[in-house]
Amino acid sequence: MPQALAPSSPLASEQADIACPFCGLLCDDLEMSEALSPKQPPHRACPRAQLGYTAAELTGNPGIAGKPADFEAALSAAIRLLRASKRPLFSGLGSDVQGLRALFKLAERCGAVVDHMHSGALNSSLRVLQSLGWHTTTLGEVQNRADLVVILGVDLDRGFPRFLARHVAGQDALQPARRAQRRVIYLGPKAHAPTCPAELPLEVLPTPTARLAESLRTLQGLLQGIPLPRTGKAAALAPLAARIKAAEYPVFVWAPGQLPATVSDLVIGAACELVAQINRTRRAAGLALGGDDGAQSALAVSAWLTGFGTGVGFSRGALKPQGELGGSAAALAEGGCDLILHLSSFGPAHLPAADKPRIVLAPPGFAPREAPDVYLPIGIPGVDHPGQLIRTDGVVALPLRALRPARHPSAASVLRQLFAALERKS
Ligand code: SF4
Repeated sequence: MPQALAPSSPLASEQADIACPFCGLLCDDLEMSEALSPKQPPHRACPRAQLGYTAAELTGNPGIAGKPADFEAALSAAIRLLRASKRPLFSGLGSDVQGLRALFKLAERCGAVVDHMHSGALNSSLRVLQSLGWHTTTLGEVQNRADLVVILGVDLDRGFPRFLARHVAGQDALQPARRAQRRVIYLGPKAHAPTCPAELPLEVLPTPTARLAESLRTLQGLLQGIPLPRTGKAAALAPLAARIKAAEYPVFVWAPGQLPATVSDLVIGAACELVAQINRTRRAAGLALGGDDGAQSALAVSAWLTGFGTGVGFSRGALKPQGELGGSAAALAEGGCDLILHLSSFGPAHLPAADKPRIVLAPPGFAPREAPDVYLPIGIPGVDHPGQLIRTDGVVALPLRALRPARHPSAASVLRQLFAALERKS
């Protein structure tokens, strides 16, 4: 008989140092003094996290073709679809390390193509890393050592609401002198300029996203002392070039997932070349903000288990990287995939548009509006059950705690049950 619920850790009535799973920063300083509820999200949860904790309150039933079903019936329907499929696409991949490990094992069993919902952004970073190399840093280094932070068009308020307050403005720094000197410059569309804590001076240099790469190349030229016209872009960027020259440890911050695909490789590449140029004589680093929806964990798990990033395709024991194809849309466009299994634990499940049977694993608060062929509700790692996620800078795997008795099984538990059932019937 399938097990519906995974065991969860004992709950303490008061908890501190809770890690938030709702963006790649994984802030691990949240606190709770009362039971979790929409009116009582953990203390320090930002607006984005509050939306996640509010969605976590919704409950729902498993479903088959839009009709409520019991868990065993929905699981059996999913098993039938997987058995009938010649080449499923496992998409979304929004899960913790344990869920992703179980998903890759099932993917190998099914000969599936595996693709994370943010694989476009992940692939952009990987392409630059492979072709140019890069020198990146960690959230801790920014907090402790950077004296200049240059934000490259990142909409921090929308995507990473506590980045400035926690890692840039925070008073907790190993080098208080550097912290006291720290300046923040935002180079990007004015509409996305961040709301800065009062104690942190912010300068805004408005630049359209489409011209960010060009601005970074101009900065390279100014730092190299190449004679440039004293008007227009070069003149506007000259004060920033002077700031960078004077800084002991400038850090350049970008968010691959927020950059349009048409310019993302160019912007990341130009930022990495600028950092490399400064590093010839001093110290500088880049910081890529991302890792939402378990993306950093998916990248790590895929690398551990397959040697490739997401996505990959399993086929009769062979493994083929699919990264250059550009994600789920390309995998589906190839015409090879005849079933979609979509996993989304931390945000709304946006299914790849395709006329294929669909199995969805998502918490009820994140279930798709349109009923899939099979819906299996799962818990949220860090809310319903413990787990681990890898932070955006890729240097730590943070433990997630259960904040309440689990209402639904973990993704890992459901995926393992699917695997066991397929093994039994083969
Ligand atoms: S910034 Fe991100 S990790 Fe931190 S509380 Fe907000 S959603 Fe959670």
